[in-house]
Amino acid sequence: MTRINTEYGQLPPAFFFTRLTETISAYGDAHPEHKLLRLGVGDVSGPLAPVVIEALRRAVSEQSRPETFHGYLPEVGLDFYREAVAAYYGRWNVRLSPEDVFVSSGAADDLGAVGNLFSRDARVLVTEPAYPAYVDTNLMAGRTIIHLLGTRENGFLPLPAADLDVDLVYLCSPNNPTGTAYTRAKLQQWVDWANARQAVIVFDAAYEAFIQDEDVPHSIYELPGALNCAIEICSLSKTAGFTGMRLGYTVVPGALAREGLSLRDMWKQDRTTRTNGVSYILQRAGQAALSPEGIRQNRQAVARYQENGRILAEALTKADVWFTGGRNAPYLWLPCPEGKSGWEFFDCLLQTAQIALTPGEGFGQGGEGYVRLSCFGAREDTEKAARRLMEIL
Ligand code: PLP
Repeated sequence: MTRINTEYGQLPPAFFFTRLTETISAYGDAHPEHKLLRLGVGDVSGPLAPVVIEALRRAVSEQSRPETFHGYLPEVGLDFYREAVAAYYGRWNVRLSPEDVFVSSGAADDLGAVGNLFSRDARVLVTEPAYPAYVDTNLMAGRTIIHLLGTRENGFLPLPAADLDVDLVYLCSPNNPTGTAYTRAKLQQWVDWANARQAVIVFDAAYEAFIQDEDVPHSIYELPGALNCAIEICSLSKTAGFTGMRLGYTVVPGALAREGLSLRDMWKQDRTTRTNGVSYILQRAGQAALSPEGIRQNRQAVARYQENGRILAEALTKADVWFTGGRNAPYLWLPCPEGKSGWEFFDCLLQTAQIALTPGEGFGQGGEGYVRLSCFGAREDTEKAARRLMEIL
């Protein structure tokens, strides 16, 4: 008999998003007279910035000529891309060496792979509700997970107790699904705790481009001590509309070492063993997206989503509904009325207001009884949904 990884049997069935998609499309099919207001989307609507399109065209043309053609590339990323990412961090006065920066095919890939650096016995803490990959990839690896819940009382920004005893912590700020973001002072508590415990923080910064408040850090490395205890995983998916392009970066600082080993060296070894890098064309596109002009052009798209956040937040405030998010992240998170479950409230809003959102149950523990609204919908849909929410809530 073949011995397979039976840990996969520990995973929650993957029915949540299937059920969600099927329910929404069944409703759409049954009611062609209604236009659905899609506030469940976690995807950007594009298009890519002109400066990125131009870089893509140039790179394709380079690949068409023998003298400028590129074959296999360094697995860890091309120098120009690693330098562009390091320069991007300079905007927040974070000094990274390009050697600390590793190219990836997006945050999801590296959130899955980062576990390779830790032992099967590592105790893993996930702050929840959360993007499901943190829990699921660790379950696949057979690790025990400790769940630290975000609640209304802690503002969905849980903090470490001094005696918290784990090896690895996943933090996501700005957060999907709750839209909350750690301030410098709060995040510093995690950094200090991790350094005191010799733990490692995996910091998911996928939504950093949405931050509007001055006291919210874009990178964990803005905080003293973070270079000694954190790996940061980010991507251009939400920053530059690259969800369909697949390009990201992971930062493993040279100063991060545990048990006498450099995690940066380990990650380099891991990447060169398990991957063959990312295409030349994509890395040129990424370099363009992170250039001053790329940043300027991409801000316009982000600003559209931020405006949706403002519209939804204003509606909920007028309706006197408690919520988090909508300001530093493209999501708002709110409790369901009258003790309804996330699914019940989802059904109710779909049937009565044609609003499609995401039940909190999809984000693990602490998600029950909440729903997530996304700011990635069309402006017109968002405005209509905001008006209907004000009437219903
Ligand atoms: N991390 C969080 C918190 C996300 O919400 C997502 C995608 O929605 C990802 C990571 C994955 O992003 P990527 O497209 O870079 O794989």
